[in-house]
Formats: sequence, C-alpha cells, structure tokens
Amino acid sequence: MKRRVFSGARPTGRQHLGNYLGAIQNYVSLQDEYDCIYCIVDVHALTSLEDTSGLQKNIHEMMLDWLAAGLDPEKSILFVQSHVPEVMELHTLLGMVTPLGWLLRVPTFKEKAKLQPQNINYGLVGYPVLMTADIVLYKAEFIPVGEDQLPHIELAREIARRFNNLFGNTFPEPEARLTSFPLILGLDGTEKMSKQAGNDIEIALSDEETIDRVMTAVTDPARRYRNDPGHPEICNIYRLQGYFNPLQLDNIADQCRSAKIGCVDCKMLLAQQINSSLKPFRERRAALAAKPGYITDVLADGAQRAQVIARETLTEVKQKMGLI
Ligand code: SF4
Repeated sequence: MKRRVFSGARPTGRQHLGNYLGAIQNYVSLQDEYDCIYCIVDVHALTSLEDTSGLQKNIHEMMLDWLAAGLDPEKSILFVQSHVPEVMELHTLLGMVTPLGWLLRVPTFKEKAKLQPQNINYGLVGYPVLMTADIVLYKAEFIPVGEDQLPHIELAREIARRFNNLFGNTFPEPEARLTSFPLILGLDGTEKMSKQAGNDIEIALSDEETIDRVMTAVTDPARRYRNDPGHPEICNIYRLQGYFNPLQLDNIADQCRSAKIGCVDCKMLLAQQINSSLKPFRERRAALAAKPGYITDVLADGAQRAQVIARETLTEVKQKMGLI
C-alpha cells in the first residue's frame, strides 16, 4: 500500500508562477509514489476573508489550474474542505484535547492578529486545530511543506500524540516532508510573488498578457541606460530565466554584464520561454474549461472518496472518546 500524503491550499483563484514552480509541480510529482489527497481549504480562507462573493469562482479557477498542470483525479483525491463536513466535527473534538496555551504561542497567530487587529476571530486561534483535523482525518503520514510551515506540523504532531495518549493509538503522527519550495519573487523583485502584493504572473494568462506582465518587471536599478552594464545576480528577471531558460543562463549573464543585451530584449526572451513552456498547460486548461460540469464532477467525486475515509476515522474517534 502506498503511504498517504495530504496537503491543503487556500482558494486563491488562478494560480501564479510562484504557486506553479513551488507547490503544484511538487504535488504532481508525488502522485505516483504516494496516495495523495489534495484539498482546497475554503474554511481556512474564512479566517481572513470578509467578502466571500468570489469564493466559488476562486475554487473553480484554482482546480482548473491544478488539473491542467497535471493533477490527476484518477490518481489523487482532489476536493474542497467544506464538502467533507466531518472535518468540522473532528476540529471540535480535537479542540477538547488542545491546550489553549499551545495555540496562543503559534507565531502565525500573532502575525495574523497584527495584520487584522479589527478581526481577531476564533478561527485564527483555532487554525492549527482545524489544520490538524484536515490531516489526521485522513490518517495522512506525510505533509509536503516548506521550512516556514514546520512549527504547524510540529503542533499537529503534538495534538495527535495527545489524543493518542488520552484515548489510545488512533492517528499516525504526521511527518513534514520537507520540500525546497523555491522562493519566487514577484515583478517588484523584492516581495514573494503573491496575488495580494499584485506582483504575480498568472499561469493561465494569454501569451500577450504574459509579455505585458513581464515587461512591467523591475530589473537591475543601476542599469538606467541601455549601454550601462548590468548585474544579473541581483535581477529577478535573471532568476526567472533560471527556471524557464536554463541553457542560456550563462550567455544572458555575459551579455547583461557587457550591455550587449537590453532589459526589454531580455524580458521578451523570458516571456517567450514562459509562453512556450506553459503552452501544453494552457491548451489542456482551455480543453478542460470547455467541458461543462467537469470541475464540479471532479470535486464531487473527490469529496465522496474523501468522505469514505473521513467517516471511518470519525466513528473511531467518537467511539474512543465515549461518544458512541
Ligand atoms: S539584461 Fe536581463 S538580467 Fe540584465 S538587468 Fe536586464 S533584465 Fe536583468
């Protein structure tokens, strides 16, 4: 039997290059080796989302990107968190074994509380408990995470361990499967690529839109005129060339330092490489988008398969807690 991997991502809508080069490609590569469960965590999104009018569209667009990028509903379970409501019940039950002090110590709670002082809701505090419920409901063993997520996985392990100690061995303690997610900077060249920062390049853009976005990127600030020699080592366009144009990287660096290539030409080269590398993805995406009801069907099937596992775990938990 394959070992089980679980991962959840917030419904952020159309995915950008940072999502693609980090999480999505990793998700796709794990599918053959592991029994993978990938979830769009819509309830988690509510902790910081006040306007939910775009939520369904975001889920749809995100799943379309995932599928077109190679996530295979035949191999993996793909679903939306709230479509398997057992997770909410398990969240409540795990809340009974989680000391409040553990939650108040979580660094991301403090950061979030600072970011939205007008909306420090219970969900922000309880987020790690819901995250633990997401994982242990499916008895997942491995969680693909970047280093910044390690404290959350450690807390999930502590909650699972505490439950096991109190009520008997039930959950595997989830292990972080450390993944070196590349840090993809946005078009401003300073912040991590993100929708919120408005510095992203969506993978589903058309060729022309991609060129327009890349042309807005900040490059080497010292290179004010076409004849100024550049410093590729500090330029984000150069970093991105490393992903999409690796064979020409040395050549670009030489040409940049000797001012034989201008930034506009360099950006055009990058945009063309992004477009040719994403061409198969974009064609698949258009084909999937044209199938009426396809995404709804994939999500319904994923939720049904996830729910079979979820119900079994929840019954076991309730029996052990004396609720049945
Ligand atoms: S030529 Fe390319 S690598 Fe050099 S500064 Fe311009 S965009 Fe960056």
